[in-house]
Amino acid sequence: MTKDIRDVVCPFCGTLCDDLVVTVSDDGKKIINVENACTIGAEKILHSQASDRVTRPRKLLEDGSAVEITYAEAIEYTAQMLVNSKKPTMYGWSSTSCEAQSVGHEVAEEVGALVDNTAAVCHGPTLIALQNVGVPSCTLGEVKNRADRVIFWGCNPAHAHPRHMSRYSIFPRGYFTGKGHSNRKIIVVDPRSTDTAKMADVLLQIKQGYDYELLQALRTALRGEDITGDEVAGVPKKTIYDAVEVLKSGRFGVIFFGMGVTQSLGKDHNIDSAIGLTRDLNNYTKYSIVAMRGHYNVAGSGQVLGWQFGYPFSVDLSRGFARYNPGETGTVEVLLREEVDAVFVLGSDPGAHFPMACNKVIAKLPSVTIDPAISPTTEISKVHVPVAIVGVEVGGNCYRMDNVPIEARKIVDPPEGMLTDEEFLTAVLARVKELKAAQAAPVSTKASGSGKVKA
Ligand code: SF4
Repeated sequence: MTKDIRDVVCPFCGTLCDDLVVTVSDDGKKIINVENACTIGAEKILHSQASDRVTRPRKLLEDGSAVEITYAEAIEYTAQMLVNSKKPTMYGWSSTSCEAQSVGHEVAEEVGALVDNTAAVCHGPTLIALQNVGVPSCTLGEVKNRADRVIFWGCNPAHAHPRHMSRYSIFPRGYFTGKGHSNRKIIVVDPRSTDTAKMADVLLQIKQGYDYELLQALRTALRGEDITGDEVAGVPKKTIYDAVEVLKSGRFGVIFFGMGVTQSLGKDHNIDSAIGLTRDLNNYTKYSIVAMRGHYNVAGSGQVLGWQFGYPFSVDLSRGFARYNPGETGTVEVLLREEVDAVFVLGSDPGAHFPMACNKVIAKLPSVTIDPAISPTTEISKVHVPVAIVGVEVGGNCYRMDNVPIEARKIVDPPEGMLTDEEFLTAVLARVKELKAAQAAPVSTKASGSGKVKA
């Protein structure tokens, strides 16, 4: 006998699909099947059942081998490392729950860390732009029910967010979009002919790194002014004017944009301009703009950091108050300048995504990585702590790419004795407070702490 658990939330990408059906064994201990998820989402959930899964913390030895340690030892190592460092960085946070993020940020405040999430290397420019100029946005539900003009700029949801198009942006039949795909015009801006580009009604195949120029050309054409020259950013002038007519003729449009535009030349200025184009299009019809966020709770990390410190990423707490200056206080920059002396990673894989020079620095420093699975980062960290998988073995709040909060559900128990992110961080926070209290105690008392007092 088996039973089905419905409305399960997929903890993989920012689409945060909440319609999965997971079949578990009758005793509720084993996952047998996952329905409705794309391949990557299903694989993540089924991976919890892998027979070779690491279930206890490991310490890396000098010869490159690893030995198992207890959770208590891992908590002690982490607390000592953070308290005894002058300026640790606590990076990641995008693949865990808001509850765990909140406790982790408290630890960061206690130890005066730099706390940063994966926006530092993906949608950070988006966050800077919306602080600069605001953002006319909407939910994915509104896109499904209203959008008849959909622009994908510098993103490839066919691969990165596989169910985005079937649940929200291209295929679904909504309240005012009863004809589904046939009612929508799809416009793709990309230097490559991606699988998303193959579905486009209008493809603007842009020269790599010329997003700002094309955005400004579209705004110029929209104002009815003349574009000088025969082409802009590799796109013929006539194609630009034709594209503007398609954009203007819709009843509700949305611009989805990804790292192809946030991380190309111009960065936050590209997004300033994309938001400007959205604003200009609202002179003709209704338009919104939505960032294609990658990790399933990177949006939540920005939200929680915002509630706690007022800034969404790259927050430096080392001076006892929150400083935010992306480009100076980002984790990549401080690693390249060798400005931090300990590294804590949770819910991300900088070993796979950071420049090699940063990873060489991480490999030299005291470091702890919290991750349910083995990754390039766990293999260069001094300690790896496996934890229960959020959305599979523990619930928690997450924010979808459109900043709608969705509560991820627990499906099965984690392996026996395994801690959750939140439990591990709560224990580290308690131990950090003990160590700091011992350091602060007068010398004449019998204080047992051995760490030095932070400046
Ligand atoms: S599109 Fe994203 S959230 Fe939806 S099932 Fe696939 S990986 Fe999961």
